[in-house]
Amino acid sequence: MKYNFWFVVGSQFLYGEDVLVTVENRAKEMAQELSKHLPYPLIYKVTAKTNKEISDIVKEANYDDSCAGIITWCHTFSPSKMWINGLVNLQKPYCHFATQYNKEIPNDEIDMDFMNLNQAAHGDREHGFIASRLRMPRKVIAGFWQDEKVHKRIGDWMRAAVGVAVSKTMRVMRFGDNMREVAVTEGDKVEVQAKLGWQVNTWAVGDLVKEMNAVTESEIDCLLAEYTSKYDVATDNLEAIRYQAREEIAIKKMLDREGCLAFSNTFQDLYGMEQLPGLASQHLMAQGYGYGGEGDWKVAAMTAIMKAMGKNGNGASAFMEDYTYHLVDGEEYSLGAHMLEVCPSLASDDKKPRIETHHLGIGMNEKDPARLVFEGKEGEAIVVSLVDMGGRLRLICQDIVCVKPIMEMPNLPVARVMWKAMPNLCDGVECWITAGGAHHTVLSYDVSAEQMKDFARMMDIEFVHITKDTTVDALEKELFLNDLAWKLK
Ligand code: MN
Repeated sequence: MKYNFWFVVGSQFLYGEDVLVTVENRAKEMAQELSKHLPYPLIYKVTAKTNKEISDIVKEANYDDSCAGIITWCHTFSPSKMWINGLVNLQKPYCHFATQYNKEIPNDEIDMDFMNLNQAAHGDREHGFIASRLRMPRKVIAGFWQDEKVHKRIGDWMRAAVGVAVSKTMRVMRFGDNMREVAVTEGDKVEVQAKLGWQVNTWAVGDLVKEMNAVTESEIDCLLAEYTSKYDVATDNLEAIRYQAREEIAIKKMLDREGCLAFSNTFQDLYGMEQLPGLASQHLMAQGYGYGGEGDWKVAAMTAIMKAMGKNGNGASAFMEDYTYHLVDGEEYSLGAHMLEVCPSLASDDKKPRIETHHLGIGMNEKDPARLVFEGKEGEAIVVSLVDMGGRLRLICQDIVCVKPIMEMPNLPVARVMWKAMPNLCDGVECWITAGGAHHTVLSYDVSAEQMKDFARMMDIEFVHITKDTTVDALEKELFLNDLAWKLK
């Protein structure tokens, strides 16, 4: 889907035809110019002057699948009662861009005509009130429309809104159930469908095996060539790699046939399969599919959504799991990995990921699964977990700083990422555990916490952010108040 955003400008008839023509021309110019600096096109739609024009554009936006959100602005004053009938029906993400056509107040030129034409300061307040009064979830961005920082903020919001569009059409394919007895990866599939739009359904592992058996040797040859061009082959066990290719091709065919953008599986149910998909899942994630291990369909869907929110619609975001800590004073780190399935979009650029085969004792593996092994890159990132609190969903986001792993770990047969958690490892862990965050997360280098907050607001779910400034005490209070507030909602 090619997404775009609509620019809806508010005005009224009071100013006369000339002013309205000027407003429209400027709005068109701004949309065109802004589109050059934004990740998605901004299309000028209307200078709205009546209740009907606003209601009509909202209806059109609601029913146009390519429209991922609307951005409003009031160049002049636009009485807001005329917006009510439209806004109460708006089902798309909404950003109020409080800007102004001119950057400077022109000392000589300014007179009452100039004031009446350029009164966004006035119009945007009237416009803002009605959204506040209607308790509408929206993003307010203020700043000059040619400012780079403003472009970045609108662009980030657009990406979050695209996450919403992807979420609303998300289909998740489950192979096997949730890992036995595990709580945090469970969730109410009816609730997520009502709230987030996700269709989460199960397919038999036997159907996947049937699909695998139908994969041809030439299809496998083709994918093998792709693997060897992208990755270093560090094993003699070509059969294991070919088997992973067979799994990948079969899973991809089933996902595409059913329109699924994410899948989960479990090592406890691999009937008819020789290997847990490792390289297969990793290479599928590299193509933008979401994945969750141990039946974790929540993290699978979130991975796909956050990938779609990233650069070029497939950013550096991946399924991750907190494994082990390094608790030495002054150099505390978390080590994240998974049994096999870490997406190579996280890999540092200095070395190609290696394909290796190793024994995997956990699960029903008959043979040693092939997997990609690499180190994660350095840089600021976030980890995100969606948990079901019973009656509501909570999205937990923690700021982290990834580092080059401080040791080589030559006997660790999986991809690994090492990071410093905010505010520090122990307080961060206490906050995370207090909030009920899972061991599975989506780790992202290119989706920001602000974007996840925007996403949560658009989805009307709880958002908890653990930052460099968070304290356990403050977080406990926040969670207590959130609990009360969400019970009343
Ligand atoms: Mn796991």
